[in-house]
Amino acid sequence: MAKYKMLRDTVLGFPNLDLVEAPSASDSEILLAHDPSYLQAVINGSLSEAQQKEIGFPWSAKMVERSRRSAGATIAACKAALVDGIAANLAGGTHHAYRHKGSGFCVFNDAAIAARVLLKDPMAKAKNLSKIAILDLDVHQGDGTASILQHDPAVGEKNYPFAKEASDLDIALPDGTTDPAYLQALDQALSYLSEQEIDFLIYLAGADPYYEDRLGRLQISQEGMAARDRAVLEFASKKGIAVALAMAGGYANPIKKTVLIHAQTIRLATEHQHTIASSLLKR
Ligand SMILES: [Zn+2]
Repeated sequence: MAKYKMLRDTVLGFPNLDLVEAPSASDSEILLAHDPSYLQAVINGSLSEAQQKEIGFPWSAKMVERSRRSAGATIAACKAALVDGIAANLAGGTHHAYRHKGSGFCVFNDAAIAARVLLKDPMAKAKNLSKIAILDLDVHQGDGTASILQHDPAVGEKNYPFAKEASDLDIALPDGTTDPAYLQALDQALSYLSEQEIDFLIYLAGADPYYEDRLGRLQISQEGMAARDRAVLEFASKKGIAVALAMAGGYANPIKKTVLIHAQTIRLATEHQHTIASSLLKR
């Protein structure tokens, strides 16, 4: 998608930002959240017409590589955040991918994979990391993530707003919701999260609650989106927990407006890096 290249070009010059190439997620990493038969079908290109249709784009070798790297980037962001306090995947947030199938432009579920990889990571273990929360603020529900993680006590998922699959906390917002109600609901979600004794946060910072979004149906201003990100980042620094971000959805026309929102998230993340990193040491 064009927005990822545009986002990379936009953040390239940001101070306090190190850009690294996304590694590929390995088979064994992907299998922590997906069925072997599904992974095989993706690798071999033997996805049925119906399966490709549900994903939303046709199979190609490039699609496999892109999906591996998208999951790999969230894994890398999680590991980097353990050291630096905060790190981001400039794509990812493919939360509609289920254990056994892709859906809604999502092939592999990067957040579910990364959470499980992190729980096995030696450095994470050395830091006694045992409970991860996925805070999904994309406007669409992370139905795939909720389904994959539904019986996993080590990874909680917060969805906002909700639809089909029950996560640990789903908050529904009516169409047309504006900044005050949106930020109040977020406050409620963060209070809930505050009680869960989490050690690490994976934040899906979807840009689609933005009022210019074609698929979002909410009416959040650019300032409201910034206030949202700040609230999450301040929560993390107050709690002394590291944050890995993924960009998730965003479909404004022109797409440049979405890129602006994603870039704003990245800029705010860089601005909070130092305080979050210092707060980790005090934990
Ligand atoms: Zn979305």
